[in-house]
Amino acid sequence: MAENPFFAPSALPYQLPDFARVREEHYLPAFEYGMAEQLREVEAITADPEPATFANTVEALERSGQVLYRTTTVFSTVAASDATDRIREIETEVFPKLTKHGDAIRLNRALYERIRQVSTDDPQEAWLLEKYRVDFVRAGADLSEPEQQRLRELNEELTRLATAFSQNLLKASTASALVVKDAAELDGLSESTIRAIEKDGEYVLPLLNFTNQPALAELTDRNTRRRLYELSVNRAPENFDLAVRLAALRAERAALLGYPDHAAYSVADQTAKTTEAVEEMLGKLVGPAVANARREAEALTQEAGFPIEPWDWSFYAEKVRKSRYDFDGAELRPYFELDRVFRDGIFHAAGELYGITFAERDDLAGYHPDVRTFEVFDADGSQLGLFLLDPYARPTKRGGAWMNNLVDQSHLFGHLPVVMNNLNVTKPTEGPTLLTFDEVTTAFHEFGHALHGLFSDVRFPRVSGTEVPRDFVEYPSQVNEMWATWPSVLANFARHHETGEPVPAELLEKMKAAEKFNQGFATVEYLAAALLDWAWHKLAPGQGVEDPEAFEARALESAGIAFDLVRPRYRTNYFAHIFSSGVGGYSAGYYSYIWSEVLDAESVEWFKENDGLRRENGDHFRTTLLSVGGSVDVMEAFEAFRGHAPRIEPLLERRGLR
Ligand SMILES: [Zn+2]
Repeated sequence: MAENPFFAPSALPYQLPDFARVREEHYLPAFEYGMAEQLREVEAITADPEPATFANTVEALERSGQVLYRTTTVFSTVAASDATDRIREIETEVFPKLTKHGDAIRLNRALYERIRQVSTDDPQEAWLLEKYRVDFVRAGADLSEPEQQRLRELNEELTRLATAFSQNLLKASTASALVVKDAAELDGLSESTIRAIEKDGEYVLPLLNFTNQPALAELTDRNTRRRLYELSVNRAPENFDLAVRLAALRAERAALLGYPDHAAYSVADQTAKTTEAVEEMLGKLVGPAVANARREAEALTQEAGFPIEPWDWSFYAEKVRKSRYDFDGAELRPYFELDRVFRDGIFHAAGELYGITFAERDDLAGYHPDVRTFEVFDADGSQLGLFLLDPYARPTKRGGAWMNNLVDQSHLFGHLPVVMNNLNVTKPTEGPTLLTFDEVTTAFHEFGHALHGLFSDVRFPRVSGTEVPRDFVEYPSQVNEMWATWPSVLANFARHHETGEPVPAELLEKMKAAEKFNQGFATVEYLAAALLDWAWHKLAPGQGVEDPEAFEARALESAGIAFDLVRPRYRTNYFAHIFSSGVGGYSAGYYSYIWSEVLDAESVEWFKENDGLRRENGDHFRTTLLSVGGSVDVMEAFEAFRGHAPRIEPLLERRGLR
């Protein structure tokens, strides 16, 4: 057991987890030990004969569970990015135990009583104390014994169902992959893509985790497109039933906690606060977005010369881009080489804005040989933290792109942040990794989350960095996307991988003009998913769903977003954001992206008003907003940054909705 690397803090710089020492057999004993240790620590808090103080109660809780924290952080990182069969087994075994463990703490009456007795004059302490109080109440601390018993059962069952949902999805990406024997059916895909997906004389195109597969834009064979699309929207059909049960149990859980539905429960501690606020916001966007998409559909039908089907949309959208805007997205790829995008684009922009610098540390390894580690230094040369990058897709990685923390910054522990970004870029069999423009934007986006973590300068880990309301957390990352197309940044990174030539100015102009096309599609696809999420979580307790696919269709219809040619970005069966974690995740929270975009559009406007990419601007954003994490009211932080409360107009303008 002395061999178990989780039992002591990592000896590596920044306490980077020592991945080279971690074996799969270390996880379960570390989880068991870590949970038992934290329960002993909690017992010591409640048994303390001294009156409850901030230090002996709230701070003591913040300090508890270090072994469990280290184990959970590493395990969830690996489970998301490199989940072997054994990792998935451990996940199935351990997640319900972790749920039970969380309940054992937050439903501990003696502990809750003690928290309620604490008082403090220090504003940071008072803020954290209130967070704990709310966390406990939302977890059911005020309920009666039988109610708490039912809540425990619900939480465990929800965790079990959600784990099954996400594992089905991971399997479906290959199980529902498009398989063709004759390469001619793949006409339109690049030769390197076709080579990369060849497997034992067949061609296997795995599904990405959203409706509209990127290959649909390129495949010339209409029948292949239809097959791919249908595989996509019908994957993991067993997940429909899991979704029905998840939604029903969440509704029951919300009722126990005193809310009319899960949506009301879910937004109560968000910046939106009420379901009405969310509905008002989404309602403003639906009509104009659908009208936009219908106009686009007409242009596509004209281009095709026949009424298009959903699987034709991307293909003819590309054609319209080419004919109307003379723009071909594929022409850009040779200018977006992965290394250069990071070094001369993402890192460069952060350097201009915040004065920070990066040095690759080949001596600090991740959990997979493709993971790269960078040390980040502040403008004065002092150490800021570590940034890890795992760019490539692999069969053991879940879909999408995300940021996570390996070490949370806090003054309490004297920890500097260790953050990481995951992308799902196809690894070329040879030669440089060339990105699409979408992938470039995503990389800037995820790095915006990374900055939120890296600049964190707070006392307590509970409110560190990205530990902000879910409907706020996407905002700083969305702002960082603006630098991908900022002229001086783009000129710096977008260079041909062979010739070093910059992107021809006219190609960029065309790209900008073409970008406005297909905004109707993008907005409808997103809003349909947000409203589908909403419908599942507006169900009243006991209101069953007999036929989930019919429910889905009705939900879209009654929200005014039903449009045959543009399905939701995620259908129910693969809506991982909302169904792959028990009560957390983005359930009744997918609206957050557009909610955050209101703040994003305001902030982009501010940067433009203030001359863009300048140190003064970066420092202002960093001090008022990024560094405070969740240690203050985030909407007050926004106003401190922007100078006034957010308005929706900049967003409507940007999305072409007014
Ligand atoms: Zn994000």
